[in-house]
Amino acid sequence: MLKVGHSIRRPGRVHGDTDITIDVPEELETVPGVVQSPKEVDFYSREYPLESQAVDMTADRDWVWSVYTDEVLEHRKEHDKLNRPIIAAAKDTGDIEPAAAPVPGKDVTVEIRQKAREMGFGEVGFTSLDRRYIFKFKRDWVKFPHAICLAWEQDYEPTQTAPSIEAEGPHHGVYRTMGAVALDLADYIRSLGYHAQVHSPNDNSGAYIPMFVAAGLGQLGANGQLLSPHFGSRARIMLISTDAQVTYDEPVDYGIHSFCTICQVCVNRCPGRALMRDKVWWRGVEKHKLIYRRCRPVMARYEGCAVCMKVCPVQRYGLKAVMDHYVETGSVLGKGTHLLEGYSIREMGYFGPGDLPRFNNEFFQIPHGKNEDLLFEDLKDRIREGDLSDDASGTLALREFKQRVANYISQPPDDMGRSWDV
Ligand code: SF4
Ligand code: SF4
Repeated sequence: MLKVGHSIRRPGRVHGDTDITIDVPEELETVPGVVQSPKEVDFYSREYPLESQAVDMTADRDWVWSVYTDEVLEHRKEHDKLNRPIIAAAKDTGDIEPAAAPVPGKDVTVEIRQKAREMGFGEVGFTSLDRRYIFKFKRDWVKFPHAICLAWEQDYEPTQTAPSIEAEGPHHGVYRTMGAVALDLADYIRSLGYHAQVHSPNDNSGAYIPMFVAAGLGQLGANGQLLSPHFGSRARIMLISTDAQVTYDEPVDYGIHSFCTICQVCVNRCPGRALMRDKVWWRGVEKHKLIYRRCRPVMARYEGCAVCMKVCPVQRYGLKAVMDHYVETGSVLGKGTHLLEGYSIREMGYFGPGDLPRFNNEFFQIPHGKNEDLLFEDLKDRIREGDLSDDASGTLALREFKQRVANYISQPPDDMGRSWDV
């Protein structure tokens, strides 16, 4: 039996459930929230501002559509069709005026938290809208100083089948549900007398996890996801920013920063070998850094993959059970079992603990960066190879190049990846 360092009291999983207490062993204690160097976070956000994948990675965002199965393709098109109006509605929410005058001096944190929980959000927290984590192309869009962090629980059962189309259904379904419910929650905030801007989960305005950690709703796992107390990385996340009078929550040390270095299940089970065993310092934060170029080819080809979500014990059992087990035994609940670590990959079969699929180098060769940059690389290759003559055919090739670049740079960023005629 290990010595308990501190205990954390959290609301129950759904609205109306009794509170829970999570005991964190002394040997797992580090700091509340995240280990970071604020000066470095400031430096990187100022000199190398974060940018959205929808802006900087258009090449692989277009490529993924070429490797989807027919089933995934149909699923994505249907999701995009249903989701597009929800995203469009969120875009203008910052311009809607409050529907009433606020009660002077009244703090409305309790009212908003209760309303959000009643509406179905599993985790609700308040913190400063941290502009250091807002994407460059969204900096002028974001209007208000406070962030309401909202997490919705993705369904348990289908998630355990990942990677599968059965798990992708609820993944996208949650985004639509929470996106629509947030529009209603924003109306409620306006009825209290304040502005409310909805940051859609499918049109992200920035990296949201740091604000969730600051609001005490979890800590960053080695899988690169927020590990929330009740449903771990099944937390699908979004923000509402507001000028309402609210009180900020505090970051919490759930023991995850240390626990992940011991657990390592997601690192061991990742089919793409995209997760790191050791932490590094990245943009002023000490973390396990996901290697995007190794994850993306797997995610795209195998139904969003999500093995790293599925095999996480915090997702499967909840943090309280995981910490209780660790206090009692000093070991990781479920580690080494087929139930936690096993998964099947379409056309490749079942992989139990210690067994991983293998992919050759070609599998990982996918387009990276912006579409227009790839075109330019292609043009340079043609010039190098003497394939661009000074005659009419060369002029035509340059005109085509110009037209294709113009098409790319005239398109507004689209966080859904591609515009379908729906
Ligand atoms: S989604 Fe799959 S490939 Fe990507 S990090 Fe997670 S387990 Fe690895
Ligand atoms: S599987 Fe283990 S190491 Fe990975 S995020 Fe979950 S708790 Fe951390």
